[in-house]
Amino acid sequence: DMETAIKVVIVGNGAVGKSSMIQRYCKGIFTKEYKKTIGVDFLERQLEVNNEDVRLMLWDTAGQEEFDAITKAYYRGAQACVLAFSTVDRDSFDAVESWKKKVEDEVGEIGMVIIQNKIDLIDDTVVNDEEAEDLAKRLRLRFYRTSVKENLNVEEVFRYLSEKYLDQ
Ligand code: GDP
Ligand code: MG
Repeated sequence: DMETAIKVVIVGNGAVGKSSMIQRYCKGIFTKEYKKTIGVDFLERQLEVNNEDVRLMLWDTAGQEEFDAITKAYYRGAQACVLAFSTVDRDSFDAVESWKKKVEDEVGEIGMVIIQNKIDLIDDTVVNDEEAEDLAKRLRLRFYRTSVKENLNVEEVFRYLSEKYLDQ
């Protein structure tokens, strides 16, 4: 049986939980202080989708997004993308559309999804439900609310991207 390998990039402002999400999905752990393993570009996980073996390679950054210095090598060959923002960071929500554009400028149209992470902090939200849903509708993307901390909806995001990729 052939295995499908999919390069997934996870973009969004610093501290929205991108590295934590990769670590949660690939290693099953959550820590307050995630430090990227030096020299490792991505973590991977295998899953089965419609009886097909899929290997997801989840590419992490080492914080370059905070000074807008992500290299082309990061995006190169990406086949799916997570656009992430945080429930408690307004700037990260306002930046979603420009992240989408950055990815598309490098790799063209690929399967994407928007996630609102840190939904466990909903009591302190700075983004109301309607505007998040409106953004997803306008960009015509599936929208998930996630908590990497509580392990809520993380599996669903990557399953959806895998299915979307296989469907095309
Ligand atoms: P990145 O800069 O986007 O890679 O963000 P990190 O993964 O380094 O996470 C930044 C901080 O947010 C860390 O202290 C994480 O522990 C925390 N964090 C990540 N996901 C969640 C979440 O779902 N809920 C809460 N409360 N904190 C989170
Ligand atoms: Mg990070």
